[in-house]
Order: sequence, then structure tokens, then C-alpha cells
Amino acid sequence: MNARMYELGSRRSVIREIFEFGKKRAAEVGADKVFDFSLGNPSVEPPKVVEDTLVSLLHTDNATALHGYTSAQGDAETRRAIAEYIAGKHGVKTDPDYIYMTCGAAASLTITLSAICNAGDEVITFAPFFTEYRVFTQTAGAKLIELASDPDTFQIDFSLLENAFTEKTAAVLVNSPNNPSGVVYSEETVKKLSALLERKSRELGKTIYLITDEPYRELVYGGVKVPYLTAYYKNTVVCYSYSKSLSLPGERIGYIFVSPEADAAKELYLAVCGAGRALGYVCAPSLFQKMIAKCQGAVSDVSVYERNRDVLLKALEECGFRCVRPDGAFYLFVRSPEPDANAFCERAKKYGLLLVPGDDFGCKGYVRIAYCVSPEMIARSLPYFKKLADEYKK
Ligand code: PLP
Repeated sequence: MNARMYELGSRRSVIREIFEFGKKRAAEVGADKVFDFSLGNPSVEPPKVVEDTLVSLLHTDNATALHGYTSAQGDAETRRAIAEYIAGKHGVKTDPDYIYMTCGAAASLTITLSAICNAGDEVITFAPFFTEYRVFTQTAGAKLIELASDPDTFQIDFSLLENAFTEKTAAVLVNSPNNPSGVVYSEETVKKLSALLERKSRELGKTIYLITDEPYRELVYGGVKVPYLTAYYKNTVVCYSYSKSLSLPGERIGYIFVSPEADAAKELYLAVCGAGRALGYVCAPSLFQKMIAKCQGAVSDVSVYERNRDVLLKALEECGFRCVRPDGAFYLFVRSPEPDANAFCERAKKYGLLLVPGDDFGCKGYVRIAYCVSPEMIARSLPYFKKLADEYKK
């Protein structure tokens, strides 16, 4: 068998380990004494229009067409609806023939990385980052170059990025709103990044693509804007997913959008189709593609997350914990009060608080708290966070 695949399959992710521990612990001490902040599973229901659309689609007299194969790159009507929606919402050039339907952001990323990278290429990303980026990049034959972010803001540290490009750099991979920090890249960051990518592409005599991983685009609070990157840098590929915006992570639906203005856009899109074919990611789930065509612009009630963020952030800050203010997604990335975040997480476990150490996100000394949980659980957990904080004041 393939040793790398065995390794990936047999080594469970830290997040999964914690989740399993939580279930075991709940059986021992009672579910009301376990506060599982480990998983990024949406806690808000999908909007009603999703159910209504699915029901009306299922009441068809042509079930063979509804459940049958679509084109490998996705149903034409769905791709048209998405292209029209992006153009209308963000004022950028789109084209249905540059959209590829996928099984969520994970598939969007693996396909895009395989479409862009050749063996030995480098992909630059910024810590903290989604843990699977290492796996996805390696599978595409490339190497992930991990750069620290500005620790005060978690925006890009341009002094590090300036010197990170080599002849092997194929792409820069960004994720805003970010998992695990919740930080949204400002327009200033995006403008600087675009200008730098243009300059480095010129200097190196090649196109450096920007890959933007956007499952949290709609999960932003307090009117914060998430700049649409194809408007700033033409060589952008958007990896989108409905997992979080429509609370449908188990249904596996998303898309890739190659900017039609990118260099060699047609060829890049064909490489995306080729990578989808090579990886077996053709024809994303048909029922959900057809639902998506009719639900553009719909979003789950994200005000629930915003309230959770406000309550938890205020309480943790009052206890003395520190974190960069998150404007989006549903995570807090809190500085560990001791240098070893794993040790801190072990202490938190004593109080039933299940947090994830930041190490696997490329950022030691932090923990991730996923606040996509019930407001009641947050309220019940607060006295325990206080007790945990007090341990460090002794
Ligand atoms: N990218 C980021 C930053 C994520 O947080 C996740 C899932 O949590 C994914 C990609 C994968 O998303 P999907 O479930 O749509 O495959």
C-alpha cells in the first residue's frame, strides 16, 4: 500500500481526537459538564428556502434527470446562476464557462492546487491556516511555504512575504475570513498583496496565481466588508463552498471560479477540469447543484454567531485572555496563558472545556475556540473559563 496514504489515514487529526474525547467524557460526567468547542460544524439551521427548494425539486416527474449525471464541470443552469450572482454582487467579470462545481471547499482546493502546481512547486500561505492545506498541497506535488502573520492583527506580514518568492512559487493561498483566527483581510492588505503579486510575477517572468479559500465569506459581523479578490488581482481562483453559508457541510457542495481575466484563463479552466477528472471529482451532487441554482444570495442566520462571538469574547477578555478581534467565521484564536498551548488545553479539559491547540494551524502558543455552538452552552461554560483563568493568576 501507499505509505503516505496509510500515514494520513491512521493518524487522526487533533480536532477529531478532542471531539472523540468529548463524547467519552460526556458519558462519564454528563453532557452538561462538557463544553465542546472543537468542531467547525454550523450550529444554525439552513435557511428555509433550502428546504422549500429541495422539496419542490423532489416533486418532479423526471427523477432520472434530477438525480442523473450533470456535465462533469456542473449543471449549466447552476453555473449560469452563480456567474450572474457573483457579477451582480461584486461587479466583476464572470462567465459560467469558468465555473466548476465541486464537493465543497476541500475539493475546490485540491482540484485548484493540482491544476496549478507542477512537482516541486511552492505554494505560500499565512499562519494560522486551515490544517488540511499541508495535505492538499503535498497531494498536488507541491510544498507549502508557511509564513507567520503580523501577530498584532493576523494580517499579512509583507516584510516576510517580500522575501518568500522563488522561481518555484506557483501560487499564494489565502483564507479570509480565516479559520482559525476569524480575521478578515482589510482592503489595504488586499491591495498590497495584489501589487506585490503583480511585481513578483513580472520579476520572475511567470504568473503567480492567487488562490482564495472562501467558505466563510458570508459569515462577517458588524458590517465588515470582505473584498472580492478577482476585482483586485486578475490571476485569482476562488474556491467557494456552501458548507458554512448555508449550513450544509454534510452535503458537499461548492465551486471553483477562475477569473475570466486571468492569464491563460481558458487553459487554466481546462486544467481545473483535468484535475477534477484526475481526482475523480466530476459531477458534484446533482440535487444540491440544482438547489443552489435557485438559492443564490440565501444565507443562514449568522446573527446567532455574532451574538455568540460577542458574549464569549467579552467574557474571555474580562477573565484576562487575549485574542485578535475576529470579524468573521466562527472561531476565536486565543493566546495561551502558558507557552505550550497543549498543556493549556489539558488544563482546560479538567473543567470540561475542549479547546484545540494552535500548533496544527501553524501557530504555536494559541488555542482555537469554535463558537458555532448553542448560546446556552456558552453561558454555562463561562464560570469554568473564569476558574481556568484564575489558575494562572495564582
Ligand atoms: N477551508 C477552510 C478554511 C475550512 O475551515 C474548511 C472547513 O472547515 C474547508 C476549507 C473545507 O470546507 P468544506 O467542508 O466545504 O470542504
